[in-house]
Amino acid sequence: MTEPTGTRNHSQGAAGSGTRHRGGSKRDRFSYIFAWELHERLLWFCKLRWLAAAGLALASVLGPYFSMPSTYPSLAVVAALVAIYNLIFVHVLRERLGPEKDYAALRGLAILQMVTDLAALFFTVHFTGGCASPVLPFVVFHMAIGTIMIETRIMYALAFAVSGAAASLFTLEHLGVLAQIPTVAGGQSTVGSCVLSMAMLVVLVFGVVYLTHSVTGRFKERNIELHNTTTELQHALEEQEQLERRKSHYMRISAHQLRSPLGTIKTSIQVLIDGYLDPGSPDGHRLLEGTAARVDSLLAIVNDLLELAKMREGRARAPWAREVSVNQILADIFDAVDPYAREANVELVPHFINEGAAVLDWAVPPDLVYAFENLIHNAIKYSKPGGGTVTVALGIDRTHAMVVVADNGIGIPAALQEDVFLEFVRAPNAKHVQAEGTGLGLSIVREAAQMHGGKVSLESVEGLGTTVTVVLPLHHTPPEIIDR
Ligand code: ATP
Ligand code: MG
Repeated sequence: MTEPTGTRNHSQGAAGSGTRHRGGSKRDRFSYIFAWELHERLLWFCKLRWLAAAGLALASVLGPYFSMPSTYPSLAVVAALVAIYNLIFVHVLRERLGPEKDYAALRGLAILQMVTDLAALFFTVHFTGGCASPVLPFVVFHMAIGTIMIETRIMYALAFAVSGAAASLFTLEHLGVLAQIPTVAGGQSTVGSCVLSMAMLVVLVFGVVYLTHSVTGRFKERNIELHNTTTELQHALEEQEQLERRKSHYMRISAHQLRSPLGTIKTSIQVLIDGYLDPGSPDGHRLLEGTAARVDSLLAIVNDLLELAKMREGRARAPWAREVSVNQILADIFDAVDPYAREANVELVPHFINEGAAVLDWAVPPDLVYAFENLIHNAIKYSKPGGGTVTVALGIDRTHAMVVVADNGIGIPAALQEDVFLEFVRAPNAKHVQAEGTGLGLSIVREAAQMHGGKVSLESVEGLGTTVTVVLPLHHTPPEIIDR
């Protein structure tokens, strides 16, 4: 490619420096993380429930042998009910509500399970001695499990409901509305012991919700933090892998691009060494000229590769300046490329869309010169054989400067319009009109635009022309420069 004006000795690309949006709100993340956990826990409780149903069935059979006359057959009915609704829950969890399903639906099922379990438990309490029942502590156990799975405010509401249900049950039993069934034959609970059990139950039920919440709440937050950190690490790893892949691809392509001219040079030299041609003869001279041209194209590739590498290295060491005028840079380039445009019979038309100067707070002037010059050179180089028109427009608003280079040249085939920004990509129609070219120019333009916080876009119709737009923010200063 043609040598640019201005010297360049620095710099770096900002590719990949943007921040990534890491998933939705805290609530979404909570739902996402805990839906899986909740699903597993609910299935685990279903297993425990089989044990509870078996225990109840066993108690209903063995009860009479341990002076518990009343437990048979009532507990068998409760056991059967527990087994039936457990079957339904297992079915719903396995077939209808997978962990990938809505967290709200799973939580609804968890609440339903809590309520049905508590109802079954109160039946069992009633049939096994009311306030003196040995299964009463299971209420507390249930509340602890519920608090691990369900939101605390719902559990406090359930704690109220449980206290109310227990008070109603014991009162109805003592008033004789419900039969008082003794735990063991002949045993009767007194009002005093019942009030005491009741008070203990209320304290324990609320206490266990509070304590379980304070312990598991911290675990839940740590879980969310851990999940976020893991996700970020995964993203970083993916980015790193992608970078490595790009690097090795880039190295492979670079080596390949250097190999073919080197091969030709080696063959030419070998011809002279082996004495097939005399370097002083006209043919030998032509061979040497061709070899020198190959060396020039190699040098152009190496220079562009160095340019790109420098841009990607780090902008803190770049020859940056404050208050850089884009108008001035374009005017200088116009002067430099004018003879080249005349030679190609191309009319260069400057077009300032609105008055005023586009002054960038911070910029690396040689990089901008290199980038804009590349674009204008492309527009001239890829004009149609008879010539054409190249318009270079500068637009300014309060926040951005916009440089648009438009030509009515050969255009770029639609399939290659994204790829031409990649290193060494050249369209066949371009190679046809201009054999020489490294295919690195647009990569450098994109790198330069990104380094200035801007971006570049391209529109082209094959056979009609190409328009490349570079948008640069006026008030962009890289953080490492601000910190200095
Ligand atoms: P160099 O910049 O080293 O001279 P190049 O011009 O081929 O080589 P780039 O500037 O990166 O490399 O452009 C890549 C390719 O994009 C070109 O080979 C050409 O196919 C296409 N291209 C770029 N600008 C234009 C344009 N204005 N008109 C038509 N094709 C273009
Ligand atoms: Mg080019």
